[in-house]
Amino acid sequence: MKLAGLMRSSTLDYPGALSAVFFFSGCNYDCFYCHNRSILTGPGTDMEISEALAFLEKRKGLLDAVVLSGGEAALQIGLTELALTIKAMGFMVKLDTNGSLPEVVRAMLEKGALDYVALDYKAPWRRYREIAGENADPEAVKETATLLFDAALPFEMRTTVIPQLGLDDMLEMAREMPVLPRYVLNPYRMPETYREEDLFRLKKPPHTPDAIRAFAEEVRPFQPNVIAY
Ligand code: SF4
Repeated sequence: MKLAGLMRSSTLDYPGALSAVFFFSGCNYDCFYCHNRSILTGPGTDMEISEALAFLEKRKGLLDAVVLSGGEAALQIGLTELALTIKAMGFMVKLDTNGSLPEVVRAMLEKGALDYVALDYKAPWRRYREIAGENADPEAVKETATLLFDAALPFEMRTTVIPQLGLDDMLEMAREMPVLPRYVLNPYRMPETYREEDLFRLKKPPHTPDAIRAFAEEVRPFQPNVIAY
């Protein structure tokens, strides 16, 4: 296992904590607006895990947490063991996931390897494959969400409010899920790396911050813990 990238310090990636972010290459989804396209297919040879752990050793007492992100981190063989190693060093561990691998999340929960999970909620279930590619599996995402509810683990679901999602979609999504402990609406920004054939979708004018805040107020009756950034 190797890292495709390491963010040494972030105040944004773990709610209320100072974290490092481990990025892994590879993803089984294909969101046209992916911001990490450059690491999806890369070999991920930037940093050995031992190097990343040595970095963490020096940050004991300075960092609170480590975020396992990607790409899709849950595709990595040995992720549970890595998370347990990081926790044994005294850090909290958060997993960022597209929700496609509930069996991995289940195993990590059973072993107590996670403190927080951010689960992507890309679109209404009926539009999942249109937005996240042919491999996207809404049933797996639902199963992952159910595991998180049952585990009573702190978690959030999060939606990038791409231009292709309108108010009707946002309301549909808000109603599709039980009340979430935290539901984050993130603004869309055009990615730096993309496929030419996706340009017509990427160039659609984004919703303004005011429009996203207005969406949040519309969905609040169904998801009272919604936050718009
Ligand atoms: S799930 Fe995340 S990493 Fe994978 S393609 Fe979609 S946005 Fe990119």
